[in-house]
Amino acid sequence: MNTQADSVSSQRTPLDATRIRADFPLLARQVHGKPLVYLDNANTAQKPREVIEAVDRFYRQTNANVSRAVHTLGEEATAAYEATRDKLARFIHAPSRDEIVLTSGTTQAINLVAYSYALPRLKAGDEILVTTMEHHANIVSWQVIAERVGAKVVAAPITPAGELIVDEFIARLTPRVKLAGVVHVSNVLGTINPVRELAKACRARGIPLLVDGSQAAPHLRVDVQALGCDFYALTGHKLFGPTGTGALWARKELLRDMPPFFGGGEMIRTVSFDGTTFADPPHRFEAGTPNIAGFVGLGAAIDYVNGLGLDRTGARERELLDHATAALTCVPGLRLFGQAREKAAVLSFLIDGAHAHDLATLLDHEGIAVRSGHHCAHPLMQFYGVPATVRASLAFYNTHEEIDTLVRAIAKVRKLLA
Ligand code: PLP
Repeated sequence: MNTQADSVSSQRTPLDATRIRADFPLLARQVHGKPLVYLDNANTAQKPREVIEAVDRFYRQTNANVSRAVHTLGEEATAAYEATRDKLARFIHAPSRDEIVLTSGTTQAINLVAYSYALPRLKAGDEILVTTMEHHANIVSWQVIAERVGAKVVAAPITPAGELIVDEFIARLTPRVKLAGVVHVSNVLGTINPVRELAKACRARGIPLLVDGSQAAPHLRVDVQALGCDFYALTGHKLFGPTGTGALWARKELLRDMPPFFGGGEMIRTVSFDGTTFADPPHRFEAGTPNIAGFVGLGAAIDYVNGLGLDRTGARERELLDHATAALTCVPGLRLFGQAREKAAVLSFLIDGAHAHDLATLLDHEGIAVRSGHHCAHPLMQFYGVPATVRASLAFYNTHEEIDTLVRAIAKVRKLLA
């Protein structure tokens, strides 16, 4: 039996990449006759066997709807679904499980805040402050509601290295700003933003801060209480869990005053044709049948990540980032985007004279999966004056050999594209 001391000491030993890779069945496949090199983890991460089996087991042994049945399967399904809420609350150190709204992902979480929190409070001339490095989810969701009332979305600038200019962000926190939003880790640049500092400045001015934690939750230890933000959005499929899962954390006092975003079953207290009263948060925001099996899988993903230890996976990813940065900067004609001092394992680049999509297509023929395009960050592409980049995004199961394979393949395809 494992003692607590065993598990603490195993969390101190470095990760064994060969053993870890065996947990991810998909990593063993071939693409175009070559071993897959999966470097698109910021897009979606691969799933460990525990997650795949938890979803499979749910459908084979438990499948029932949540909260609607008193029969055994219904109770088991509800318990399994609600257990993931508990796991998420512990994972991001939320003060209460009732502050965790289960959503289909970050996009739904941000839209929930836009429609339920921001829209009723916004008026003409108001502003929502974000940064130049946001994903469209943290731009367009605000634009859609701002347009309705004549408010606008404004952005704080970044440096060419891809760091937020904190003083400029703070200078823009004027009384017109009704909400601020920042990405915790940029999906294009890897920049880790100083959320604590930003949250402190927002708090001093009474402005709520929403953090887009899509790329942070899988790689950093997130503590929403230590960060001091007001809303934190995350997505399950980047956290090694199933697609269509995610969460919004919000302070209890904010959730309590938010009207529902969707109406339907499971979110009410009483309904009549004279009017409806709503359930308390978080169920007020979870209308209809959720992705129950997906959330069961997300619970398994959190257990898996906790079992490895975020300190160990983080250390492994920093080491991979250092190796990849050193290797890519030696490639002639390669331009790297994002050299922040605090950075996660995301490397965006272009090669002189080659279009990002051509490069990614040729890399695919070498078995290498990278993303090319604007990465849902048009304003950031405009800032750098490029239409697209190629992005290699790493996870703890990647290896130095895979990075070397990428660098060799880039050298090969450069010649083809020259
Ligand atoms: N925010 C960031 C920084 C992202 O990287 C992504 C996904 O790529 C999202 C938001 C949207 O996440 P989802 O599509 O899972 O809702």
